[in-house]
Amino acid sequence: MLNKIPVLETHNVFAGSPLDRCEILRGDSQKIDAMMRASNTRFICIWRTKPLIKPGESLRIQWVNGLMALPLIDAGAAWVFLGIADGRAHFAVDISAEKDPENSGDFAGMGIFPDLRMSAATLDRGDAAIIAQAKPLIDWHSRRTFCSVCGSLTEMRQSGASRVCTNESCKASHFPRTDPVVIMLAIHGDRCLLGRQKIFPPHMYSALAGFVEPGESLEEAVRREIQEESGVPVGEVRYHSSQPWPFPASLMIGCHAMAIDDRIELPGDELEEAVWFEKGLIREALQGKHRDRVWMPPPHAIAHQLIKSWASVD
Ligand SMILES: [Zn+2]
Repeated sequence: MLNKIPVLETHNVFAGSPLDRCEILRGDSQKIDAMMRASNTRFICIWRTKPLIKPGESLRIQWVNGLMALPLIDAGAAWVFLGIADGRAHFAVDISAEKDPENSGDFAGMGIFPDLRMSAATLDRGDAAIIAQAKPLIDWHSRRTFCSVCGSLTEMRQSGASRVCTNESCKASHFPRTDPVVIMLAIHGDRCLLGRQKIFPPHMYSALAGFVEPGESLEEAVRREIQEESGVPVGEVRYHSSQPWPFPASLMIGCHAMAIDDRIELPGDELEEAVWFEKGLIREALQGKHRDRVWMPPPHAIAHQLIKSWASVD
């Protein structure tokens, strides 16, 4: 059954960056410095976890050039080399020191700093993927000023891909984290299992999800999370696709899972409700029908793609 379900990886928002990350260049400080100062280089500005965006129907990054970004970098602002596209280098720069960049200072009138989660659906796909790289890295640099081993100051290395402790007797290296989260659709016959959290809008249901724990395979995490949240026991697990989820720095790993039994027992208060939905109803709900009964997660969420893939198979 599971091997019939098609994989729709390219539908996942925040994946599919147009940049070549060129990680081999990260340690070449001379080359990186020359690229940073080249006239065609572009910088994405991150202000307190929000990117500078050019408003419009499809939201695009408001790139700035070196004239705006380099004085900030020369004054100590965090920066990251993101990669190259069309022969042009792309960097991220932290402008969090600005008080109100939308309305005052050098960035006034250049764009907006929208809530990324709320605007994900309307972001240009390529730009969304660049933001999913830039935002967590800039955020990480601002939180890792001190060494977690000895408490001394750390310094940026590898063009923003790592940090190192400045204490000569420590010199610990630090790397940005990506936290794996499993998100899965349990299936039983012609029905799929969806859950409702108390904070969801009325009638909204989604796939179950949870963080992978240390020492756990993805399959084990899928089985544990479904069992913990709904009481439903699961057998076979199959990977579908993944989605970078920069809130703050997760990777959503989408799976389908075959339920062994359809008996639901809500053991904790994590879910308000878990329900088996018939495929026919879900197909119509994906077309916007039955909003008074079940409201699907939006297309930019991997949960939507997991449900859609399953619903597309007879
Ligand atoms: Zn240290």
